[in-house]
Amino acid sequence: MSPYDKIDIESQLTGYSSAGCITYVELDGGVKNNLEALEQIVNYAIDKDIPYFALNVPNDTCLECGYCDEFNDHCPMCDSEHIQQLRRVTGYLTGDYKTAFNKGKQAETEDRYKHSKKLQGWK
Ligand SMILES: [Zn+2]
Repeated sequence: MSPYDKIDIESQLTGYSSAGCITYVELDGGVKNNLEALEQIVNYAIDKDIPYFALNVPNDTCLECGYCDEFNDHCPMCDSEHIQQLRRVTGYLTGDYKTAFNKGKQAETEDRYKHSKKLQGWK
């Protein structure tokens, strides 16, 4: 589903939680080049009275040359495999999810659906 569909559904449920709630939208790394779309999604969540909202964006950093983007296995600039992969796993941001979490949580992260795949009008 799109980020907007997810927000529409979850905005109907936030009032039922007396212990708090959070709405996450999972985006791909390309979003860093489209700040207008990011703002549009945040404003949509605000308009729907989402009390606690977060965007998950993968962020890989090459520990050899410092290049930063989503590239997973090896750096496209220097071909190093010494990569720090920042991801949100079960609500927590990690320094490197491949070393900080067990195989099950790593699989969860890799299987996570990117809501940006369903965006219409994505620039
Ligand atoms: Zn590099």
